[in-house]
Amino acid sequence: RVRVRYAPSPTGHLHIGNARTALFNYLYAKHYDGDFVFRLEDTDIARNIEGGEESQLKNLAWLGIVPDESPFNPKEQYGPYRQMEALDIYDKIVEELIEKGHAYRCYCTPEELAEEKERQEAAGVAPMYNGHCRNLSDEAIKKYEEEGRPYTIRLRVPEGKTYTFNDMIRGEVSFESKDIGDWVIVKSNGIPTYNFAVVVDDHRMEITNVFRGEEHISNTPKQLMLFDMLGWQPPLYGHMTIIVNENHKKLSKRDQNVMQFVSQYEEEGYLPEAMFNFLALLGWSPEGEEEIFSKEELIKIFDEKRLSKSPSMFDKNKLTWINNRYMKAKDLDEVVAMCKPYLEEAYDLSGKSDAWIHDLIGLYHDQMSYGKEIVELVSLFFKDDYTLDEQGKEVMSWETTPTVVKGFAEQLEAIEDWTAENVKAAIKATQKATGIKGKPLFMGLRVAITAQEHGPDLTQTVTLLGKDKVLARLGQI
Ligand code: GLU
Repeated sequence: RVRVRYAPSPTGHLHIGNARTALFNYLYAKHYDGDFVFRLEDTDIARNIEGGEESQLKNLAWLGIVPDESPFNPKEQYGPYRQMEALDIYDKIVEELIEKGHAYRCYCTPEELAEEKERQEAAGVAPMYNGHCRNLSDEAIKKYEEEGRPYTIRLRVPEGKTYTFNDMIRGEVSFESKDIGDWVIVKSNGIPTYNFAVVVDDHRMEITNVFRGEEHISNTPKQLMLFDMLGWQPPLYGHMTIIVNENHKKLSKRDQNVMQFVSQYEEEGYLPEAMFNFLALLGWSPEGEEEIFSKEELIKIFDEKRLSKSPSMFDKNKLTWINNRYMKAKDLDEVVAMCKPYLEEAYDLSGKSDAWIHDLIGLYHDQMSYGKEIVELVSLFFKDDYTLDEQGKEVMSWETTPTVVKGFAEQLEAIEDWTAENVKAAIKATQKATGIKGKPLFMGLRVAITAQEHGPDLTQTVTLLGKDKVLARLGQI
């Protein structure tokens, strides 16, 4: 049975990159009818944050990714799902490794290690543990122990070995053991390191496949050597490429131009189905041209062989486009329910009827991409101070514009029953009375009334703005 896991450290909210990792693991598991496990790598205790775990799960659930197993929904034979609750399991294995001579206590102090590193760097060699404590005499050990020196536990990296694995994305990848120094499996505080605990967890949880970020590729030989020493079968690994921004630089948390946390998209009113769809295309592509897929479709067509070998670009336009497609497909009622809170927060809606708000949002339904965007889109209905851009100024300087403005104002004054039909008739009548039609008529009116060259249907816009407001604006000219 296929079993995959998403194993975040509870150090913050769900980042786009992690969401993508979770998503590809999820798609793979579901495609093969397997299990998607959520577990926590919380051994770096200083970095853990309160509520980090819950917020990760909440953000995943928003995206539509609900784990089959997690700390809150464990399967007894696979628990614990938090590393800090599995310390006694790790201890036993560490003991076994020490007994078999695969691991040893290292008494080097951080200062000594730093000095050695400096020496190596100065000599132009890649820094690596020099093996100082690898073969200490019994006497030396006794001395350190009597001093009460803190120690770490290091893995004795075998000599002359090659670690090769068939990466699900990159194909064959090899590392030589001579390039890997004896590495720490237990820190001086007694807590195991990631590279050690992850192996024990993947084994005890019977994980079959691991998709993870490419920053982990150099960890893989360390993990493979442990699997080997313990006589366990490693999972298959797939290392995904990085995500880059529009300048082709690695997306970094400091990048101001891109919102990087899933919760931010939720807050701005992006649609979870659209985000799921977008993230699935971030480093993966289906056959053919179609790009809009539901979660169920993606599960069906997902093929790990089509995961990209080159960096994937976080393309904001694509995100907007996909979100727009999903927004358009929604019932207007749903869109209204979603957008209204943003309007309430931004504007004073007292005196506006539900029907008016409904129609207003309806005017922009087809063009919007995310809920909060409505605030910008409808601003001309709430703000009176508007400024013209160059193109707008040009339209206002056309010699026909004052005529259509004046003519339309006269027609509007005469309307008693303010309905869309009557507004429409007033535009027609203006055309007749002035003899001006087409662009000079419509563009002239649109810019005079809205200060924008483009926008939704003019009749509807005028109707929703209301007689007083439209007349006031026409009168300003
Ligand atoms: N906790 C690791 C991370 O967040 C997971 C590493 C792994 O998947 O093995 O990057």
